[in-house]
Amino acid sequence: QAARRVGDIRADFPLLSAHPDRVYLDSAATSQRPEAVIAAETAFVRESYAAVHRGSSVATGEATIAFESARETIAAFVGAAPNEIVWTENATDALNIVALGISDASLGLGAERFALKPGDEVLITEAEHHANLIPWQRLVARTGATLRWVPVDEHGEWSIDALRERVGPRTRIVAFAHVSNVTGSIAPVADVAEIARGSGALTVLDACQSVPHRQIDVGALGVDFAAFSSHKMLGPTGIGALWGRAELLDELPPARTGGSTITTVTMEKSEFLPSPQRFEAGTQPVSQAVGFAAAADYLTALGHDAIGAHEEQMTGLLVEAVDATPGVTLVGPRPGKPRASLASFIVDGVHAHDVGQFLDDRGITVRTGHHCAQPLHRRLGVAATARASAYVYTTPEDIERFRVALSEVRGFFGAGG
Ligand code: PMP
Repeated sequence: QAARRVGDIRADFPLLSAHPDRVYLDSAATSQRPEAVIAAETAFVRESYAAVHRGSSVATGEATIAFESARETIAAFVGAAPNEIVWTENATDALNIVALGISDASLGLGAERFALKPGDEVLITEAEHHANLIPWQRLVARTGATLRWVPVDEHGEWSIDALRERVGPRTRIVAFAHVSNVTGSIAPVADVAEIARGSGALTVLDACQSVPHRQIDVGALGVDFAAFSSHKMLGPTGIGALWGRAELLDELPPARTGGSTITTVTMEKSEFLPSPQRFEAGTQPVSQAVGFAAAADYLTALGHDAIGAHEEQMTGLLVEAVDATPGVTLVGPRPGKPRASLASFIVDGVHAHDVGQFLDDRGITVRTGHHCAQPLHRRLGVAATARASAYVYTTPEDIERFRVALSEVRGFFGAGG
């Protein structure tokens, strides 16, 4: 199948057409939606919306089929079985569900295999998004376990050797991002999974920045759980997914309880269904699931090879734009090394927020701040960085406008040439 031209792909995105003068380089924060996603969600709401998994009406049956076939689509997209995909609010929620489930198990509320004891260790990295840091801080505070982390270097990167040194017999969980949202570094997932497995630790992958951009077979990666968000892969907000190995999900205590999760309820206690129902308490984001599946279908139709080739080209241009600009420091992998399609940077003598404002005044949307990774920024020695990120609709012209504007920042603020 021939790769579609980026100009044609752009035409699928109503927002990009509505703002032809804007350069959108903030897809790592959230991505734009193609008409196919908007139309799928709208058509479902207009024609098929009803309660799912409740009652026996024709309408409920139709809505339930749409909801469950969306799950099948997302499962197939990441090489999983449908019962291994739990709908969540977003990736943050998915990570919390794992941490809270382990916390409940530690209190004796189900499956002993997950229980943490004082002295047990949870290992993360210093590069984690707060979504993959704070839930573990809370878990160790509740259980008396210890939080350890793999430090990052001055570029914000961590090494597999440093991780290996920190995995030992007390390590019970290793949680890390597949792709850093700040540095764009790509973690050696299979190596980490093997090291963790060697110590009997569970692995939790924050796949928020990888699933949208590359073909992922979650089972083949060797990890035990993975979290991702629809809104970073052309889908709606309000929905994400937790993937887990079926035998683990079927035993992980449900963090949230309530309607639709149970087999039997007495006044004293409740028995829970297997995955995914045990985790999906209350009314679910049904139309969002339909939109999420349409986004996965859209990406599948573009083709992972074509997406990868396009992003590689855009990444090269982004890195070059940042690295070749005097007084601008690229964060993360050195130019030429593998990285995801984003580039965070520091402009000498100019605060990241001023950089963002300057670019925004020229119609260029980037993200500035600590990107929910304060410890990483502390190690870099700055409170904030600016980040430009590309996706399927980004053009070389977008990055050229960014490059030209970036080259003018220091002069404008009187910070030198
Ligand atoms: N992890 C990473 C690496 C991310 O980039 C993000 C989003 N910035 C998250 C977790 C959290 O995703 P969400 O806000 O969709 O829950």
